[in-house]
Amino acid sequence: MSNNQPQKNRFGNTVQTDLPDDAPRARQPGHKLRTSNDIVDRSELESGNTQSASVHTLQGQQIQLVHIEEQVGLVRLETAQPASVPNQFTGPSYRNHSERFRFDGHKMLHHLDRVMAWQNGERFSPVHIDMGLTKFCNTACIYCYAVVQNMTKGSMIERDALLRYIEDCGRLGVRSLGFIGDGEPTLNPALYDATVLAGQQGIDTSMATNGLLLDMDRVHELLANMSWIRFNLSAGTPEGFQRVHQSKAKNFDLLVEKIRSLVAIKKEHNYDCTIGLQMVLIPECYDQVLAEAELGAELGVDYFVIKHCSDSEYKEIGIDYKDYASIEDVLKQAESLSTEEYVVQAKWNKIRASEETELYRNGYRKYDVCMGTPFLLQISGNGKIYPCGPFFNKERFYMGDLHDGSFFDLVNGDHYWNVHRDIAESVDVHKDCAIGCRQDYVNKFLWDIRNPPEHINFI
Ligand code: SF4
Repeated sequence: MSNNQPQKNRFGNTVQTDLPDDAPRARQPGHKLRTSNDIVDRSELESGNTQSASVHTLQGQQIQLVHIEEQVGLVRLETAQPASVPNQFTGPSYRNHSERFRFDGHKMLHHLDRVMAWQNGERFSPVHIDMGLTKFCNTACIYCYAVVQNMTKGSMIERDALLRYIEDCGRLGVRSLGFIGDGEPTLNPALYDATVLAGQQGIDTSMATNGLLLDMDRVHELLANMSWIRFNLSAGTPEGFQRVHQSKAKNFDLLVEKIRSLVAIKKEHNYDCTIGLQMVLIPECYDQVLAEAELGAELGVDYFVIKHCSDSEYKEIGIDYKDYASIEDVLKQAESLSTEEYVVQAKWNKIRASEETELYRNGYRKYDVCMGTPFLLQISGNGKIYPCGPFFNKERFYMGDLHDGSFFDLVNGDHYWNVHRDIAESVDVHKDCAIGCRQDYVNKFLWDIRNPPEHINFI
């Protein structure tokens, strides 16, 4: 078999090779493959330039660069005398883009010191903490997970406790804080001072906000210190805003103008802070996807990300993940609006969970144990500390309160580590947990480390 036509092999299976007719054949090919003994003798190929940085052209050959969207391809034009040597590596013809943001995965590989500490059974500080600064909100989004976490009007972390905690995070070596939790952060007046203090401590900060109460007189403090600010906006029109966020339609215009001003201030002062929009995908906002993607481009934000809606273990938000398949072409259309400066991205890994088997679609995980909580902790907007958001108010897993004492001591104490151990030993992640929780990607990574396949040295 050497003519590349599909043929039956000696086992009766159809096989097809792709050997160029003029490629030199090896005289002693070694053992039989499932196709035949016909093997290209690579040592007979003309030696050529294998420097990856340059493009080697064969004699008389012309090259042409072809630009398609953001990518550049290389075409070798036919010559009077076609190249006689096939399969010759003559330099790269394609460049991949590096990922600007990692919306749909984890970054644990950049924190291997903590992974090693975990491997060695040592105590270590969280890499990241997500936390509410309040436990209530000024809007009422119809997909809000905080509702199942018992929102409490007026409840927030007091200023002194918050600032003491930030200093403790600095001493502990916590690397980042997300003011992302069970309440709107801008309702806590200490937000701005806490952000500045975190910056002084060398801690990265970020915030997810509905934006309506953003104090434009103090946004410099946020822009100068935060790595990113994300607006929770799941609509691109006033009518959609009213429907999904259950707020007044005129608030949509207010918010849009605030975002526009924030982008202008950032650009004027060269702040590094990334500004983005996030939509939580539910059927009620399907008709808003394209409008918001266009709005983001018009506002000049850095990104628009579209995420799945996390539902609780009781599916209280009533998400039918199978339904996401019906919106995929719209999401792709939205993504096509991406440019060098503006990323539009759907979190496909989670959105396509509906294409998994019945088991995974219904919330079963690809790991059996939760080990991620010591790396990624979550704190409620009333100051109560739990290993994760879906377990807020489950007193068995209560770790302590920021108002009651030192966070530094707590993280170094026995109770904190006993709760993490209890999570890992007693929680059935397939049944007890929210679907697609925050620690999901991290858990999968840690599970793979703890459950290696055979022959790990054969990388
Ligand atoms: S897997 Fe379960 S216990 Fe672990 S963080 Fe997620 S919801 Fe919490």
